[in-house]
Amino acid sequence: MQPLQIVPCRLLSWLYSGLKSPVSTGTRICPTMARPSSSMADFRKFFAKAKHIVIISGAGVSAESGVPTFRGAGGYWRTWQAQDLATPQAFARNPSLVWEFYHYRREVMLSKEPNPGHLAIAECEARLRGQGRRLVVITQNIDELHRKAGTKNLLEIHGSLFKTRCTSCGVVAENYKSPICPALLGKGAPEPEAQDARIPVEKLPRCEEAGCKGLLRPHVVWFGENLDPAILEEVDRELTLCDLCLVVSARGVPVAEFNMETTPATNRFRFHFRGPCGTTLPEALAPRETENVS
Ligand SMILES: [Zn+2]
Repeated sequence: MQPLQIVPCRLLSWLYSGLKSPVSTGTRICPTMARPSSSMADFRKFFAKAKHIVIISGAGVSAESGVPTFRGAGGYWRTWQAQDLATPQAFARNPSLVWEFYHYRREVMLSKEPNPGHLAIAECEARLRGQGRRLVVITQNIDELHRKAGTKNLLEIHGSLFKTRCTSCGVVAENYKSPICPALLGKGAPEPEAQDARIPVEKLPRCEEAGCKGLLRPHVVWFGENLDPAILEEVDRELTLCDLCLVVSARGVPVAEFNMETTPATNRFRFHFRGPCGTTLPEALAPRETENVS
């Protein structure tokens, strides 16, 4: 299982460098504390008072939904891993192959559902909204399972499998077609022996803006590409305003980590809950009578 709090290195370093340090804000969290609390009751007290909660999610929250990441041991599509195909260079070299990879990932998602972790977050957001409180999810996942679960305040910092961007005019569009274009029907098989479909570039997904017809690409952040500055600005605003952050931050607000295991970063957090996210998150985010008592 992968931890919930996986955050891309560049976002993590940005979080740590861009936000005020716990020392300078003179706060409730000490990065050198010996051990974080694993008391759900204590966490619930912070939670009950929080008005603006940020949840940062990564691959861990989707792992229980069976979403493949094509990274790490055994994580292959044909003979490649994501870092081989999710690059601008790979797309320039062989757009047909990269589209087959993304077509497969889109089709796989048709059979995947949000798990209790996604649902608990979405239900919590709706409940808090009714109380005049705010919950926002910042995710690096491109699978849209948070959206499918009903999360409304969502920042998808790595884009989405179900958005395209035109390489000519730059227009970003939602796209839930299956298959995304006729030429990809039945293509994208993941087995190592599967043949490259070698689809001519004019038969790959094309822009539908009037008079454009440019080649579309997945609207996802590939290796070697920068995160969208407009989204980072929104992330910055949410992290500046929040008074409770699940899962990672260095701003001095209480941070709760939900993880299958402890990590070198665990001791930086105020709370640490060990176990599958589908079990710990519903418990942590369930309604309680003592909520919002401040
Ligand atoms: Zn276009």
